[in-house]
Amino acid sequence: MAADVRNESLQTNDETLTKLMTENIGEAIDFISDFAGLNYGKAQTQTPEHSIDRQIELPSSSSYELVKKVSEAFTKKGGQIFLDARVEHILQDGNGKVTGVVAEGRKRKLAVRANAIILSSGGYGANLEMRGKESQGLDYYGPQTSTGDAYKFLAPLDLQTKNIGWYKVYPHGVEVEPGIAKLTTYASKKATDMGAIYVNREGTRIVDESDVYATLRNAVLKQTDKVAFLVMDKRTWEEFYNLLVLHDFTEEEIQQYFANDGQKTPVFVHGNLKEVAQKAGIDAQTLQETLNNYEKYVTQGKDEEFGRDPQFLHSYESDELYVVEQRDRFATTLGGFVAGSNLKLLAKDGEEIPNVWGAGEVVGGANGHDSMPSMMNTWSISSGFVAANNVLLGLK
Ligand SMILES: Cc1cc2nc3c(=O)[nH]c(=O)nc-3n(C[C@H](O)[C@H](O)[C@H](O)COP(=O)(O)OP(=O)(O)OC[C@H]3O[C@@H](n4cnc5c(N)ncnc54)[C@H](O)[C@@H]3O)c2cc1C
Repeated sequence: MAADVRNESLQTNDETLTKLMTENIGEAIDFISDFAGLNYGKAQTQTPEHSIDRQIELPSSSSYELVKKVSEAFTKKGGQIFLDARVEHILQDGNGKVTGVVAEGRKRKLAVRANAIILSSGGYGANLEMRGKESQGLDYYGPQTSTGDAYKFLAPLDLQTKNIGWYKVYPHGVEVEPGIAKLTTYASKKATDMGAIYVNREGTRIVDESDVYATLRNAVLKQTDKVAFLVMDKRTWEEFYNLLVLHDFTEEEIQQYFANDGQKTPVFVHGNLKEVAQKAGIDAQTLQETLNNYEKYVTQGKDEEFGRDPQFLHSYESDELYVVEQRDRFATTLGGFVAGSNLKLLAKDGEEIPNVWGAGEVVGGANGHDSMPSMMNTWSISSGFVAANNVLLGLK
């Protein structure tokens, strides 16, 4: 697994944290499964970035199940969860040692004293001020809770950070509000499996549409306005539509997108070739040539431009076309605070903060510049497990 992480991130990972992650994830999953009664099984989708089939998922394929069961088990064991409690400050004694946190909610202010603290406050993707150059032109689809608050409330500790400005970028997004994306992965993958192609504003194909997501993502980033368009015939659109509705889109919102006629994002248009090109702002003549060439590749069973696997070359079966924009998107930030092998956070002077550990997305480095699918959760679960064990050892 460590070798796969290294390959995917082009050796930009922090080897110490990668080792910690890959050597502890097995035990961590066993622990959390027993603790909260989770029944992980083999994931339906095994992505090609992993050299062996190792991805797992819960029967519901849902993080809601994880959060619900783990929080219930935690409370049952005597743990206390404070909701409506946003940490605003840390408490320190005269020597600067952290002694707790102060949280504020809509109805109360709360001080929690602690001998040990594990910081697991997630990423900072929702914090526009913290976003760097790499995220410009990309839409965010993560939780609004990725506020980056910790970078403010831990300022008195003068902590080291690394790779702030690195993001896990995926293809397959549509911009549903300015700067905000929804993902269309299931639908887009199906459409390309059925032969649909990606074109740019100039009307030319941009990539082997059936290649791995990272290749698709990188190709979209290079296009005018960082946008590509998925061109589908009616039969493909119907499958695409069903999968959108199954995964987080309503029929009403899709109708509204079409009613906007390409004047507003997300671009969803249909009609004959000239109509879709005009509405979506694609060069019609080049698009026609692109489709003619593609038809030739289908007939001869050989994609002369990108060498796409012939099993994914399919003719367009109708003149009626459906065109949907495709933008890159991100939810996850890959940079964060710096931690050593025991997961204690490090100050800028290189000293460990004696009783503050980090876990999850708030600690940068384990996956480097590009995490494989599943690896962000792998990092969160394994680092949480290790940090908690280290706290217990320290308190004994
Ligand atoms: C839509 C989506 C799909 C994803 N899919 C995958 C996937 O398939 N596989 C994968 O590996 N990863 C996936 N990820 C990434 C992965 O879910 C995250 O990296 C991971 O959940 C991070 O866990 P965490 O515990 O570090 O942070 P989070 O889960 O973000 O938890 C941080 C918590 O800290 C709280 N918090 C923040 N600031 C404060 C404060 N000041 N006071 C109190 N609380 C605070 C937040 O409210 C939040 O509850 C996905 C992410 C998204 C958004």
